[in-house]
Amino acid sequence: MTIHDKFRLDGKSALITGASRGIGLAAAKALSEAGADVTLTALSSEETSAAAAAIRAEGRKATSHVLDVREVKEFSQFVEAHGPFDVLVNNAGINRLAHCLDVSPVYFDDVMSTNTRGSFFLAQAVAKDLVARQRPGSIITMSSQMGVVGGVQRAAYCASKHAVEGYTKAMAIELGPHGIRVNTICPTFVETELTRPFFEDADFKASVLSKIKLGRIGLPDEVAGAVLYLASDASSLVTGSALKVDGGWTAE
Ligand code: NAP
Repeated sequence: MTIHDKFRLDGKSALITGASRGIGLAAAKALSEAGADVTLTALSSEETSAAAAAIRAEGRKATSHVLDVREVKEFSQFVEAHGPFDVLVNNAGINRLAHCLDVSPVYFDDVMSTNTRGSFFLAQAVAKDLVARQRPGSIITMSSQMGVVGGVQRAAYCASKHAVEGYTKAMAIELGPHGIRVNTICPTFVETELTRPFFEDADFKASVLSKIKLGRIGLPDEVAGAVLYLASDASSLVTGSALKVDGGWTAE
């Protein structure tokens, strides 16, 4: 087997959350191109079903489902019914900006229930199913450079992503003996619908560009490459890690 072959995912099944657009959609396409059967999920159905249809039109396997990562019981039943998933891309996430003095409990719970609680219990559901089947796997959670450092108006978001980093390491320890690898990806600012409103503020955009050492905002495909690496056997010795795709933001 060549190193190139190790990036292939033929015969593997991958579940991707937040796959309707942005990073999740790019990740789903990348995994599919590498040979995985992909299950695209999001809150809404229109974009995921169109994306799945486009993948099928190219002769590969793809389905789409509405899945709310805040609904633990429902997605656990979904995993039981549609698993096993050899790869989970725990990507669904939200961010709303507020100064730390203005974060309300409702706002905080909203961010945590999607970014942290949702991703934690989905990782648990997928891992439980894999352990029961004695099957290895790769769980990848979309963290952020804000899971490594702090950011203005991002206290709740940072809390949610730093927590992801913590449970990822703990899960990696406990799931390693089962052959299940657990990692995060920490992107810098990437051009998606999530970040588009932020960049309407020219001063903010300039401050972001001044911190990214490569001098530009990222693209979803640049994160998808990291997803493919962590999903595949190319990363077979990698677990409990945070893969920074941050253009050098956190190097300083
Ligand atoms: P995006 O374009 O806003 O897409 C977010 C996706 O998450 C959508 O598919 C959305 O589904 C889905 N989603 C939101 N709430 C959900 C829920 N409760 N249940 C299921 N799906 C839900 O965001 P993105 O920029 O691609 O970000 C993806 C991930 O990368 C997030 O975890 C984010 O924190 C992280 N990240 C992004 C950046 C960045 O600069 N873009 C940087 C670092 C980390 P619907 O379309 O159906 O609403």
